[in-house]
Amino acid sequence: MTVNRDIWILATHTGDAVDETTFGLIAEARDIISREGGSGRVTAVIMGIPEDAAFASLKNGGADRIIHIRHESLNRYNGELFASLLFDLANGRSLSCILLAHNEGRSDLAPRLSAMMNSALITRAMAISFDKENRAVAIRPVSNGYLFEEVVINTDNPPVISYLPSVLSAVNPYKGPVDTPVEIISPEIDECALSARVIKVIKSAPENLSIEDASIVVAGGRGAGKGDAFNILHELAREIGASVGGTRPVIDLQILPFERQIGQTGKTIAPDLIINCGVSGANEYSAGMEKSKNVISINKDPRARIFRFSDLGVVGDLNEIVPLLIERVREVKEE
Ligand SMILES: Cc1cc2nc3c(=O)[nH]c(=O)nc-3n(C[C@H](O)[C@H](O)[C@H](O)COP(=O)(O)OP(=O)(O)OC[C@H]3O[C@@H](n4cnc5c(N)ncnc54)[C@H](O)[C@@H]3O)c2cc1C
Repeated sequence: MTVNRDIWILATHTGDAVDETTFGLIAEARDIISREGGSGRVTAVIMGIPEDAAFASLKNGGADRIIHIRHESLNRYNGELFASLLFDLANGRSLSCILLAHNEGRSDLAPRLSAMMNSALITRAMAISFDKENRAVAIRPVSNGYLFEEVVINTDNPPVISYLPSVLSAVNPYKGPVDTPVEIISPEIDECALSARVIKVIKSAPENLSIEDASIVVAGGRGAGKGDAFNILHELAREIGASVGGTRPVIDLQILPFERQIGQTGKTIAPDLIINCGVSGANEYSAGMEKSKNVISINKDPRARIFRFSDLGVVGDLNEIVPLLIERVREVKEE
């Protein structure tokens, strides 16, 4: 039996650009349809008012059609509002699934939406397929990435599935129609009726920025040690306006929280500059930072793998080198 799938993806944007994960989700939806050899349609739902160039990039992004929920208030994320608008739109339609990126700032959206739809929720998925009985089957990491589980979804309503951003490709090889049809919806929104709403956005100090949002990241590995030794990395970060991330051992040792883990089972980041300190450069780590524009690495082992993808490598003890670097940065600032 050939299934005619209708897969919805949630397109996200920052006003001037559509997030890369959006194109990854479109590619993923297309892959699901083409693997089955069936026909189907990929619908991108976008909310808010992105700039013209951003919207044009979505129109060329490989979706078959776009639903644009247009309202100024939607430029700022609100889980309650987004979920209720998506629910009004999707409820009662025979969709195969709704895909979105597992984004830290929006992690409440998928659970809210699936609850409203009385459907299944899968978070941090790595791959989706459909079995012979037309049930969605998702693969996702468990036990901090040491194991993977296969989950069969057994609901009549379309499941809501959030994808791990690190598995989404930034390049979408698929082309949609030349002139992607756009359906515009202009909702009436009463923000005062929401149970919670953002009234002010306070800019964070760079070191508190999420590692995905920071343009400079200081990354510490097991070589940066525990406690005091890691403090010098925080000091460096404060001096140069960087956020601090780490390898998995650093997270396992509870030196940094999980949301600061870089790598295959952590975050994928692409800052302008990353400074790796005491990081060996295992595949699982490099998968999360290889798109960084400039890479500096400090490691006492001249054969460390991290040097293979570094623009500048410093061989030596980070406990000696990082304080010298901080001193030099302070001198330059004073000059
Ligand atoms: C399924 C799976 C998923 C995984 N996911 C991730 C992931 O998302 N992210 C991740 O990071 N890892 C992940 N890992 C673990 C990964 O394989 C590596 O074990 C890990 O990245 C190594 O971390 P590290 O570089 O901090 O430690 P190590 O490999 O122990 O390296 C420490 C480095 O510090 C150097 N060093 C030591 N002392 C100093 C000093 N004083 N000065 C300078 N250099 C020094 C050493 O020469 C060494 O190169 C995963 C593993 C598996 C199996």
